[in-house]
Amino acid sequence: MKEIGHFINGKHVPGTSGRTSNVYNPATGEVQATVALASDAELRAAVESAKAAQPKWAATNPQRRARVFFKFVELLNRDMNELAVLLSSEHGKTVEDSKGDIVRGLEVCEFVCGIPHLQKGEFTEGAGPAIDMYSIRQPVGIGAGITPFNFPGMIPMWMFAPAIACGNAFILKPSERDPSLPIRLAELMIEAGLPAGILNVVNGDKGAVDAILTDPDIGAVSFVGSTPIARYVYGTAAMNGKRAQCFGGAKNHMIIMPDADLDQAVNALMGAGYGSAGERCMAVSVAVPVGEETANRLVEKLIPQIEALKIGPYTDDKADMGPLVTKEAQTRVKGLIDSGVEQGAKLLVDGRDFKLQGYEDGYFVGGCLFDHVTPDMDIYKTEIFGPVLSVVRAKNYEDALELPMKHEYGNGVAIYTRDGDAARDFASRINIGMIGINVPIPVPLAYHSFGGWKASSFGDLNQHGTDSIKFWTKTKTITSRWPSGIKSGAEFVMPTMK
Ligand code: NAD
Repeated sequence: MKEIGHFINGKHVPGTSGRTSNVYNPATGEVQATVALASDAELRAAVESAKAAQPKWAATNPQRRARVFFKFVELLNRDMNELAVLLSSEHGKTVEDSKGDIVRGLEVCEFVCGIPHLQKGEFTEGAGPAIDMYSIRQPVGIGAGITPFNFPGMIPMWMFAPAIACGNAFILKPSERDPSLPIRLAELMIEAGLPAGILNVVNGDKGAVDAILTDPDIGAVSFVGSTPIARYVYGTAAMNGKRAQCFGGAKNHMIIMPDADLDQAVNALMGAGYGSAGERCMAVSVAVPVGEETANRLVEKLIPQIEALKIGPYTDDKADMGPLVTKEAQTRVKGLIDSGVEQGAKLLVDGRDFKLQGYEDGYFVGGCLFDHVTPDMDIYKTEIFGPVLSVVRAKNYEDALELPMKHEYGNGVAIYTRDGDAARDFASRINIGMIGINVPIPVPLAYHSFGGWKASSFGDLNQHGTDSIKFWTKTKTITSRWPSGIKSGAEFVMPTMK
């Protein structure tokens, strides 16, 4: 049995707490590894290593810090297949989807290759008589990242790339469900030239998270995961004097206007609703067709496509989607589907009994489609995080707009229309962080920033883009005046203490 430990000070370190968690192959239900769950002392060892290495790294000039990322990007491309397979083997998603996961992180590494420019400060000459004022961006010191299972490549890179490029040391606490890829990324960073101790991976659960949140030497915490934990991490980090950015769950709607290209909208819903078995924070889980006719046509087109979804293990390169990540996730999703039926929604495609020959113990759920869902139902209020699409029928544009506006979550939203005026009004009025106009999963690129509103995000600076440089640095502003000196002229008289 493979035993996954920690990666501290540039080396693999076995766990010593005596506590472990199982890592499954979600397609077969087999335990394929155990992962160590760190104690406070193990987290502290990582902090000590980070503390020792960080000052020299911060003093390394920014071009040299950037060069580590140039090389790291090269190594990610070199090993892309191997990394994607490793990711899929623990997460369960298709290998092509895992490549997308890694590439979205790689792009943030490309972005931070511009750190010499990104980290530059500001300067005002003559802010007063003979006074100059300037500000510099210094690293926070030691940063930490706590990441979810669903993007074990992209999200760790979203965090550690800007943090490290800015001159911080970093402690990554990945999800205990798929911990192998994050450790492999840390190895590659060492191969790319990063000094030992700057990127440490400490595996664990709530215990390790609490040790991070109370550690006196960690200055900033970035979290991505479910909303209750995001809220907890944000509050606890703040109480302990740390800056924090915490991103939570989602319930992303897609409004389909009567004038939309329906085939395009259906294709978009298929990918955004069922890709990665719906285990994406930017998955579209609610379709809101406007008008009965749009709704009827949409549902008619969706049904055969959902029934034709090809579901399989990550080793099947023809599969559209794989299993859910754990047995608990499968049980939870099936329970929510049951509740939808009980509460009166119409289950038009039922994937609850999906079975795959040879993979009977895998955590599969087939694609599901609910129609006539209403806002009071649990399947509408809750983030299902499975391959389940809910259709909520709206009478008109204003009713459609109100649904995502009133929902607890505010991560992403999309509108499908041919009408520029409707799209423009929608983008302006909606209280959600990321908007797609005829784009289903509007995940911003690395040089813009990622973040939702409402219960999808706690804190004020987003992931990646220039926000991330602000998050991982502290601003220091210097006001300086130099009294008149040597420039007044040379002195030919023997200097004495006047
Ligand atoms: P999760 O909240 O269960 O776990 C996230 C992290 O928190 C993990 O590292 C986990 O070990 C840790 N954790 C779990 N329970 C904890 C506790 N009680 N105390 C302290 N730490 C704890 O989330 P998950 O199931 O891994 O990921 C899925 C969730 O993440 C979904 O809600 C999804 O929407 C969300 N997500 C959000 C974004 C975003 O950017 N908004 C992106 C990806 C995923």
